[in-house]
This record gives sequence, C-alpha cells and structure tokens, in this order.
Amino acid sequence: METSAQRSKTTTRFKNPTVKKLLEEYKPLYALDHAESIMDWDLETYMPKEGTEGRSVASSQITLIHQKFFLDDNFKNLVLRANEIDGLNDYERGVVRVLNRTLKVMNLPPKLLEEQSIASTKAFTAWQEAREKSDFKLFAPHLDDIIRIQREMADKLGYEKHPYDALADLYEEGMTVEKLDKIFSNLIPVLGKILGSLDQSSPFVKSSKLEQVPYNKEQMRIVNEELLKLMGFDFGKFRMDVSAHPFTIAISPSDVRITTRYEGVDFKKSMSTTIHEAGHAIYNLQMDPLIAGTPLFAGTSFGIHESQSGFLENMIGRSREFVHLVTPMLKNNFGFLEDYTEEDLYYYFNTVKRTPIRTEADELTYNFHIALRYELEKAIMDGKVSTNELPELWNSRMEDYLGIRPKDDKEGILQDVHWTDGFGYFPTYSLGNIVAGVIIGKAKKEIQDFDKNVRAGNLMQIKEWLRVKIHRFGGVYAPQELLRRSFDEDYNPNYLTDYLEKKYLHSG
Ligand code: MG
Repeated sequence: METSAQRSKTTTRFKNPTVKKLLEEYKPLYALDHAESIMDWDLETYMPKEGTEGRSVASSQITLIHQKFFLDDNFKNLVLRANEIDGLNDYERGVVRVLNRTLKVMNLPPKLLEEQSIASTKAFTAWQEAREKSDFKLFAPHLDDIIRIQREMADKLGYEKHPYDALADLYEEGMTVEKLDKIFSNLIPVLGKILGSLDQSSPFVKSSKLEQVPYNKEQMRIVNEELLKLMGFDFGKFRMDVSAHPFTIAISPSDVRITTRYEGVDFKKSMSTTIHEAGHAIYNLQMDPLIAGTPLFAGTSFGIHESQSGFLENMIGRSREFVHLVTPMLKNNFGFLEDYTEEDLYYYFNTVKRTPIRTEADELTYNFHIALRYELEKAIMDGKVSTNELPELWNSRMEDYLGIRPKDDKEGILQDVHWTDGFGYFPTYSLGNIVAGVIIGKAKKEIQDFDKNVRAGNLMQIKEWLRVKIHRFGGVYAPQELLRRSFDEDYNPNYLTDYLEKKYLHSG
C-alpha cells in the first residue's frame, strides 16, 4: 500500500490514453451529474412546494441531455475501444467496467424506459391512495403493469438463469438468485433461533417509556450536530438539513450532504437516522480525491454503501461503548433524561420488537422483513404467483417469521413505496447488514483496543481502517471483488449472526 507521502505525490490514477480521453469526454457528464444532484437535494429540502412542476420539466430535459451525451457515438466508441485494451491498471479497468454497466441500462429501448417511468408515476399515485384506504385492490392493476415492464426489462438486460438476476445486478453487481437463496437460507434460520431465545425476561424486549417522550426539535438538532462533531465531521465539507425521507448526497469529496428528520417524539429515531446517513457520508468523504469527477466517484454498490451506514448506526452507534460516550452529552441536552442511567439508554437504543412495519424494525428483526420481500419478488418474477395472492402470501410469511399478522394491507403489503419503481433493490439492505457484520468481525481483530477507542470517542483509527479497506476505492472494484481483496470474504452472514448472538444472548 502506498504511504501518505507517496499518495500526495501521485497526481493521477489514469495513464492509458484511451481511458484518459474517455475521462476527458466524461467531464460534461460529471457536470450534469453535479447539477442534477443539487437539484435533487434542493427538491427534497428547500424548494417551495409549488416549484415542483417547473422543476420536473427542467429535470426531465437534463435527463435527456445526459442520455444524449452518453449515447453519443464518439463516446460509445471510446468505451467499446477501451473494452479491447489489455494491461489496464485497476482504476482504468474500473472506469471501463462502470461505464459498461451504465451503457447497458442506457441502451434499453427508449420506449420501454418511458413506459417504466409513466407506469411508476401512476403506480405511485395509486399506491398512496391504496395505502391510505388500506386496499390492495386499488394498487394491484398498477403492480401488474410494473411486473410486465420489469419482466421485459430483465429480458432486454439479459440473464443466465433467472430473470430476477438481471434486476438484482442493477443494484448489486453480480448478484443472483442462486447467491441470494444461499445467503438467506443461511441467515434466516440462525436469526430465528436467536429471536426465539429472547424470552420475556430479557431486558432487550421491554419497551422504554422514552419512546413516548416528546423532545424539542431545536434541541434535537443540537444533539445531532454534537454527534456529528463527536464522529469527527468537518463542516467545511459537509452539511445536514431536514427532509421527509432522509438521504445522503455526494456532490464531490469536499461536498457531501445528509438530511435527517425530527418526529418530535422518541429521540432515538432522529439520532439513529442521523448516524445512519453519516455512515453513508463518510464513505464518500473518504474516497480517493483522484477519482473525483470520474465514474468511479460513487459507492461500488448499494449493499456496500448500506454496510457503511449500518456499521455506523448499529455496530458503533448502538454499542455499549458508544452509549457510554454519548450519555453525558445527551443528559446535558435533554432534561427528561435526568432519571435514566446509561444502562437504561443502552436498552432503549436496542429494543427488539416484533413489528409488522419494516422501518420500525431493529437490527435483529430487520432481515426477516427483507427475506419476505425477496421471496415475493422472486416469485413474482418467476410468474409463480398471481398479484391477488400476494397480500395473503405476505401476511402468512410474516406470521412464519415473526409470529405476528398484519391487521390490514396498510400494515402489510402496502407499507413500502419501492415496488412502484420495480424489483431487485430490497436484498441490498440485508447484504449491507451482512457486510457490516463482516466489518465488525474483522475490525475488532485488526484494530487494537477497538472498544476502548469507541468508549473514549477516538474514532480516527476506525475511520482510517475503513478508508483503506473500502472508502478510497469508490467504484474501482465490483463489490464481491472488493470483499475478497479487503477481507478475504464474500457476503458471509456468519459474522453478522455471531455479532447478534453475542450481543442479544450473551450481553456482549
Ligand atoms: Mg441507507
């Protein structure tokens, strides 16, 4: 590995003339990306409500310009030529790999893409009403449209064994039904055992009164800022705002933004949302500055990005050590915590709940929600199940996994918006948790005094370790290649189940 002195002397990762030409031609595309990112961020944060219509016209025009640049013959031919070159270095190969993947999607028939976009918009509106009325029948015909289009898309994208493979690969490069089946069939039974062993006497299953306690939103904002400062965020390159659906947006390595939200009650929600997005942000902030402005300046996959947020939110943020670190600060800001001990807060942050709602699930039950969605998506793409059978399938699966039955469609199949866009995304949540498990397993072995450092608020070493193992590479390596190179591992769920078992059954 290069030293930091060598690093500061290196001025480029790219030497091959064809790749250099490609990156030169990529500059306007990067600039468009930059502009689109700011527009998206603005739309979600500060844009006046009535600006929506004008913005959507401008946005769709920019999307068209983007496509035109990308599908320009000159640019496409450069990519094709680069495919033929032997002896590229890892960074150069990464550029070509990522561009090929984007081209594959851009090359889908424009009519199909348009159909998808119209169907999604209509499905979204129908989903809102169906959810409101808790009536799946209102959504079903739109879901049928989405299913038809997604099948066609899978055919056009191509796959070897299962149509779902084509869709899963869009979010997690190289992911297939074969791999996912293996991962979930290893993960779920072990999680079932851990959950089954938590009896009513466990302090993890008792709800805390704090879930009902309201907080002052301005005070909460201060707490979130304190948390970010504790984690070493440089507000010269980073900011935090508010949006209904929190997200992270990376504009450049020196401009990464997160949003959070304030429900006004149950302060752990805002706190963990902030820490979650902060984990995404560190990934982008610590990428190699020499890949800025190239197609490599992005996480290598949704799963790997989610591993960074999950690691910070759960493995660090909900650990005994971190709770010890932040308790004085929390007590300082929230008078209502006066009578609560550090131990009380630890269990408040780590309550295990069998809830039908995915977004309210905890780190132990979350993956059941994902396994359920994956099984249904796979069956849908298989054509093995008809749309009207889905709600019952959903409910009975929930009963198998968590022993609870959603009381209606709103609590069941209509709770998530994701299917209005199609399938293949959900598994990346579990892949992220699994990789976060690999990371905590390896980090505790490789980083000296890991727990002590977290307890003392010394997170520098951990962040540097993550930079070296994952962050700096951006999209250079495909996710499975990155896992192999940095950890000599795959999406191996054993690390996650070991971590959960130790934490929830052996108080460690
Ligand atoms: Mg996330």
